[in-house]
Amino acid sequence: MTLRLVNPATEQPLAELETAGVEETDRAVAAAKEAFPAWRAVAPTDRARLLRRLAALVEEHAEELALLETVDMGKPINDSRRVDVPLAAECIAFYGEAVDKVYDEVAPTDPSSVVMIVREPLGVIGAVVPWNFPLLMASWKVAPALATGNSVVLKPAEQSPLTALRLAELASEAGIPDGVLQVVPGFGETAGQALGRHPEVDMIAFTGSTEVGKLFLRYSGESNMKRVALECGGKSPHIVTAECGDLDAAATAVAWGVFYNQGEVCNAGSRLLVHRSLKDELLERVVKVSERIRPGDPLDPQTRMGAIVDETQLDRVLGYIDSGREEGAALHLGGARVREETGGYYVEPTIFDAVSNEMRIAREEIFGPVLSTISFDDLDEAIAVANDTVYGLSAAIWTDDLSTAHRAARALRAGVVWVNAFDKGDITSPFGGFKQSGFGRDKSIHALEKFTDLKAIWIEVGS
Ligand code: NAD
Repeated sequence: MTLRLVNPATEQPLAELETAGVEETDRAVAAAKEAFPAWRAVAPTDRARLLRRLAALVEEHAEELALLETVDMGKPINDSRRVDVPLAAECIAFYGEAVDKVYDEVAPTDPSSVVMIVREPLGVIGAVVPWNFPLLMASWKVAPALATGNSVVLKPAEQSPLTALRLAELASEAGIPDGVLQVVPGFGETAGQALGRHPEVDMIAFTGSTEVGKLFLRYSGESNMKRVALECGGKSPHIVTAECGDLDAAATAVAWGVFYNQGEVCNAGSRLLVHRSLKDELLERVVKVSERIRPGDPLDPQTRMGAIVDETQLDRVLGYIDSGREEGAALHLGGARVREETGGYYVEPTIFDAVSNEMRIAREEIFGPVLSTISFDDLDEAIAVANDTVYGLSAAIWTDDLSTAHRAARALRAGVVWVNAFDKGDITSPFGGFKQSGFGRDKSIHALEKFTDLKAIWIEVGS
């Protein structure tokens, strides 16, 4: 089946490619299985060298990859250049550098035995990723999986397969053997499901919606009980307390926390929880920052907000804006599709005030540039509202009071909590969710754990 890609910035045809269906996915899994024994036998120092070479090639091809990312999914070229491509290279280098510095263990048993606790690769990993950070999400899966000696079949989102395909070519150029990393650019229901149900796939490393994450759990249960690691959706609370000492910094973080990447960010701070006494002043400052984040041509280096990925997502975002109005929230800023005259799917930064946590715009992941503002009177109420969600990916709190910061950071049910910051992170700190935001962590040394199994080797040596 032919996949016809459209540039979301212009609605013009971008590329056509043959998709991988069930049969092609089967062939990729068979090749990955065949490649696995030799790859796992490669010494960690040699795998490390190959990954570092791949990272260097990503850096060398940075401009090309940035351009592909931007025309494929609509994000500003400045972000592709400054964030997506350098962080992908850094991630690949990090796991390349890490993998020959991780040691196994010897258990403290009776001296008549030697018990080695070793970590072994799982085998064939199916990596299924979304369209919002295509190259970066792929790198978060592929790099630690390859570093630990697994082979990988990567399925990019059908909206944005181009950088994944280029990454596989660069991996080949770096000297990573055939079959060790393959890309199946197919649809979710065909290639994605085929990986999820495949009896020879040992693990699924998934990033995407909670809804599809649950399907992968079902696929696993109905096939070979493969391991599943899920990085799913979010509805992150961004709390600004009365003790916030730097309202300008908070306002900037609130605006960028939800409008960055057109709001197509799993951990977007889409619920602003603000102390009632500060609400008007904070919103005024958030609006000021937001006015500088106007949607524009993604290829213009000055553009700070690009196009929504496709028409389906555009309709979804506009549908949520309608539902906010219908449920009685007060539209404070934006709320419309813009730039229709240029073609492309653009939505302006949108802020709702007077939102209750029961409304759909407070409960459901919009995945677009829409902020829902909820006022609170005391911290316990703020924490209760923050936690009143099925998600638990991230949360943030602004306060100059150390006890409040610490109490809230412990009470918030989320995989990442920021204090006086939002969306900070680097490759050294783990990322992932509580509750229906998933389980298993990407980034940091901890990401290596999910791609390996523990084996205890008990050797009786006598006394
Ligand atoms: P999605 O769940 O629709 O798709 C994700 C991937 O799953 C794609 O490759 C898709 O083709 C595949 N897929 C879709 N339907 C499938 C099916 N029936 N069977 C098998 N595979 C299927 O998500 P999306 O729209 O691409 O991305 C947005 C979602 O990703 C949001 O919910 C967002 O929060 C989440 N996300 C999470 C993180 C994180 O780290 N937690 C990071 C980025 C995005």
